[in-house]
Amino acid sequence: MLPIHEQFYTFQGEGLHAGRAAYFIRTFGCPVHCPWCDSAGTWHPDYIPEQVARWSVEDLVTEVAKTKAEFVVVTGGEPAIHNLAPLVDALHAIGQQVHLETSGAFPIRGEFDWITLSPKRWKLPLPETIARADEFKIIVDQPGAIEEYVAIIGETDKPVWLHPEWSRHQDAATLDAITEWVKAQGAPYRAGWQMHKHYAADLKDARSATPAPLGGDPKKGY
Ligand code: SF4
Repeated sequence: MLPIHEQFYTFQGEGLHAGRAAYFIRTFGCPVHCPWCDSAGTWHPDYIPEQVARWSVEDLVTEVAKTKAEFVVVTGGEPAIHNLAPLVDALHAIGQQVHLETSGAFPIRGEFDWITLSPKRWKLPLPETIARADEFKIIVDQPGAIEEYVAIIGETDKPVWLHPEWSRHQDAATLDAITEWVKAQGAPYRAGWQMHKHYAADLKDARSATPAPLGGDPKKGY
């Protein structure tokens, strides 16, 4: 059984697989506590639900099988705090590819087909998870964030996406910093975007949870 915050059928809005039909499973719980978290309902005391549903692997797989998803994204919260190997194996058994979105701060259990690692300064990624990542996502939330996280990731030939932290997605300085970095450095850096937010794609599935973005606002209880 896994504690599941929400699950919904949508498309992947970010990274190398953006635009493809995907089934999202968002696990409950995250010890990282980013002040701009856009999934605060998975951990923040002001936003967590009164009850968290626990789902069996079999029932999760049944839900996925009802869709035409090209792959399943296991996200959080921080999904790697859970043993995900049985879920990954069961999804593979019905022919699904399984992707993971993680901070990389915890050992990954499960043979994932694709790992997106987004390092967070509040709990740094492990060397072993950095080595397993297929792409990286840097959240540009303050001046100097790109340099900071590039140093943490180290040298890589895997795509490194630079995303404006969403409360800053219209902030010219943040966007310019990303533009200038990509132009000056070239590969493996890429300007990133959370396309699904503009489409409101996740919300089209009634099972998706109400968004709870903290946006870095200390008044919201952080
Ligand atoms: S952004 Fe991700 S790692 Fe950070 S607190 Fe939210 S769920 Fe956890």
